[in-house]
Amino acid sequence: MTRYDVADVFTKRLGVDKEVVPENQTKIARAVLREKFIKADIGVTGANFLVADSGAVVVVENEGNARLSSSTPKIHIAVAGIEKLVPRAQDLAVFLDLLGRSATGQPLTVYTSFLSGPRRGAEVDGPDEFYLILLDNGRTKLLTDPEKRQSLYCIRCGACLNHCPVYRKIGGHNYPWVYSGPIGAIITPQFHSITEDGWLPFASSLCGACAEVCPVKIEIPKLLLKLRSEVTEAKRRQGAGGLERLAFRMFAWVMAHPKVYRLAGSIGAKLAPLVPPVGPLKNWASQRTLPRPAKQSFHQWWDARESK
Ligand code: SF4
Repeated sequence: MTRYDVADVFTKRLGVDKEVVPENQTKIARAVLREKFIKADIGVTGANFLVADSGAVVVVENEGNARLSSSTPKIHIAVAGIEKLVPRAQDLAVFLDLLGRSATGQPLTVYTSFLSGPRRGAEVDGPDEFYLILLDNGRTKLLTDPEKRQSLYCIRCGACLNHCPVYRKIGGHNYPWVYSGPIGAIITPQFHSITEDGWLPFASSLCGACAEVCPVKIEIPKLLLKLRSEVTEAKRRQGAGGLERLAFRMFAWVMAHPKVYRLAGSIGAKLAPLVPPVGPLKNWASQRTLPRPAKQSFHQWWDARESK
């Protein structure tokens, strides 16, 4: 949304005069949202890290909404995956540094809160009750796999998303679950099932930018390939994907027979400009111009060059 769109939404939903200056829009949002935070009975947050030796829940954010959620309502509930656990407070130093730097390039994220249970004694803020919900949801199963367990190293910095050419084009809402981008493409099928979200590992160009920038060095392209092979194998066991396998078998056979390959190439080059795009190519071609085959194949060009 542009700030003008935001102004329209505010006028329509909040009944305020049209305001297009971003700083003033922030003030309006702040006034409305503060009221909601103060009136809420329960605040729910996630957690970036859980410190085993002190029991602290560490919440890292730039906006302050998590800090409000954890301090103003009477009850605070934090929900965190079990992989967020670090042994000691001193282990946090390296993670907090990596998180801010890889997420937004900041030396440290703006708000880093250490929450240790409900409000005590003379403390002026904090909840009366505090609950921590630890989520497994497929994580223990993942831990048993020596290669795939590295998916749980993720600190959710978002660097792989920002560098992924696919994510940058399609945006986060096109991924089916809370985790998007390259990390979503490997985590979602593993937490759910490879049959349910089996298309996700294929939504990648395998350019490797994600692994290059990942601060905890998760081998995302390698895991994408592993998951692809698992998805294909699962399809085969279910008796699906027969057409695709047949197409690849034919392709392999043509590639292994140079004469057939050249004949198919020359027929294809002549026919391609005459045949309108069909099937999945139709949608693709509605926005783009299909590349036209060269008048001369590489082999023809090479033979002509050699015979001179
Ligand atoms: S996979 Fe790596 S780069 Fe992507 S969000 Fe997780 S830690 Fe960050």
